[in-house]
Amino acid sequence: MARYKTVLLDADNTLLDFEATERQALRRSLEQRGVPFNGQVLQTYLDINRPLWAAHYRGEISRDELMTRRFGDFAKALGITADPEEWNRDYLRMLGDCGDVLPGAVELLQALKPHCTLALATNGVSDIQRRRLKDNPVAPYLDAIFISEEMGIGKPAKGYFDRVLTALNADPAATVMVGDDLNSDIQGAINAGIDSIWYSQTKEKSALPTYQANSLAQVAEIILEER
Ligand SMILES: [Mg+2]
Repeated sequence: MARYKTVLLDADNTLLDFEATERQALRRSLEQRGVPFNGQVLQTYLDINRPLWAAHYRGEISRDELMTRRFGDFAKALGITADPEEWNRDYLRMLGDCGDVLPGAVELLQALKPHCTLALATNGVSDIQRRRLKDNPVAPYLDAIFISEEMGIGKPAKGYFDRVLTALNADPAATVMVGDDLNSDIQGAINAGIDSIWYSQTKEKSALPTYQANSLAQVAEIILEER
């Protein structure tokens, strides 16, 4: 018998390639505004976007504020005039058009499917995530999809995991959360009292997760190991 019966999987940077999605949406929304995309422009955006998310997670700014401010600041940095709200709307729509899958993700799900219930546990905007998952090669393997916006609560809140476990009728002792983010995925698993696998390609170590894996193949090995 596999070590776990229920596997909760994060979407972005675990199964789906968010960086590719972000790059593509940014490129298209810039081109729409007559600005050519290049590495430096991308870096400018990332340098604006990242601290705003950090401020949001510290509770200093709302999500709406973040969404508008990032494109206002970005336009200023590029020296162009653009409506930040409209730009953010275009960008979000374009995010939904790209569901690139990370190498090894389909193989991971294929390996787990005969042994485990598989559920996607993602923080995100419902419309974007649903569109990215539609016709996506990972979709047929998923027994359930839990999107924070639809539930009104997200990772790392214990309440989010409680609702997921109840919906799946899952035994917490036989459930594991797999994700790349220590703050949402791994801290969430701790809050919920379930095991976790931190998928990280860095050499960095953390005491928080139950296991650490630097490839998706290793994630499969940990989950499928005999108890
Ligand atoms: Mg992630």
